[in-house]
Amino acid sequence: MPLSGLVAASLHCIGSVCRPSLETGTRGAARTGLPIASSEKMPNGRLLTLAAGDRLTGDRYCQIGGSMSVDVLIPESTDAAVEAYGDGSDITVIAGGTIVMQLVNYGWIRPSRAMLLNKAGLSYVNQDGSSYTVGAMTPLSDLIDLFSPLGPCARNVADHEVQYQATIGGNLCAPTPPEHPSGDLQGPLIALGATVRSAGAGAERTESVEDFLANKDGRLVLDISFTAPDAGAFAALDRPHTRHFTALAVSGAKTADGMRLAATGAGPTGVRLSSAEAAAGNPAAAGVAALQDVNLRDDALASAWYRERTLPSLVARVLTEIEEAS
Ligand SMILES: Cc1cc2nc3c(=O)[nH]c(=O)nc-3n(C[C@H](O)[C@H](O)[C@H](O)COP(=O)(O)OP(=O)(O)OC[C@H]3O[C@@H](n4cnc5c(N)ncnc54)[C@H](O)[C@@H]3O)c2cc1C
Repeated sequence: MPLSGLVAASLHCIGSVCRPSLETGTRGAARTGLPIASSEKMPNGRLLTLAAGDRLTGDRYCQIGGSMSVDVLIPESTDAAVEAYGDGSDITVIAGGTIVMQLVNYGWIRPSRAMLLNKAGLSYVNQDGSSYTVGAMTPLSDLIDLFSPLGPCARNVADHEVQYQATIGGNLCAPTPPEHPSGDLQGPLIALGATVRSAGAGAERTESVEDFLANKDGRLVLDISFTAPDAGAFAALDRPHTRHFTALAVSGAKTADGMRLAATGAGPTGVRLSSAEAAAGNPAAAGVAALQDVNLRDDALASAWYRERTLPSLVARVLTEIEEAS
């Protein structure tokens, strides 16, 4: 079953929890007589696909479910996705769904409007010399052969099954639960000095990953751009199982602007290790300095105590690898 079918089936189940007898068809269309553009027939509802310029009123959404009905939007172009997203209020973006569908299935979030991005034309890796632009819907499997630290980090996320489904946009926007860190790709993207292009209230904006992470609510990620570094390295704590999240990882990149370092698992989002960068000439000292840049915490994967003892080694290992590769 394609992703849209799986998602619709799950969203349909939310409705059925509240009321088993579900409506069939597009309620709004029946009410207004509006023609329904290329929609997919689902067992208990329809998914409305949207072209740019389609009128995005309640009448044009399909509805799945009973008293807990969910409008599922499937924009068929980037423009249509941006238009449907609007200012991001009251809309849940579903990319690969590896995180968000768990939240839906466990009832931790109950979206009233969901937007699937799988047909929005946002899956691409465009290369122009050493410059790359990666669409938000690009799966991690398309990144694993890229240079370090991005490629090895993507390869380190879960296993092949997850890597083929999970997207770079979803990873960047991953919510951080208290149990474990998430958004591993934030580390390499910060180290590469990547920029994020997003849409939302107040029009399109392009900014650094750090700025984006500090203010990402109400933003729809369109793509991420970066330049291949002169040298890069990635080091992470080993995981007991491929499906475990990574407790702590460090990414480094020797760029035109100098050495850039970042960590994941050392705070709620990926964090730049500016103090360590300042001491980059001495890997051991840089490792110790990195502790000034982080806000370590206990979670289900590791204690703050353990992270404090391992972060300096990961930083030193990354810097040594880059030094050897240069
Ligand atoms: C078994 C398992 C193991 C995992 N291991 C790891 C791991 O080791 N490291 C790791 O980092 N992650 C891990 N994950 C989490 C997850 O797979 C990745 O973070 C993945 O990249 C998320 O992408 P997605 O496309 O599936 O996101 P989704 O689940 O679709 O979305 C995640 C969040 O981002 C938002 N979102 C998605 N796309 C956009 C966009 N374009 N603009 C704005 N908001 C958007 C969604 O609304 C949602 O809030 C694991 C997941 C599983 C199931």
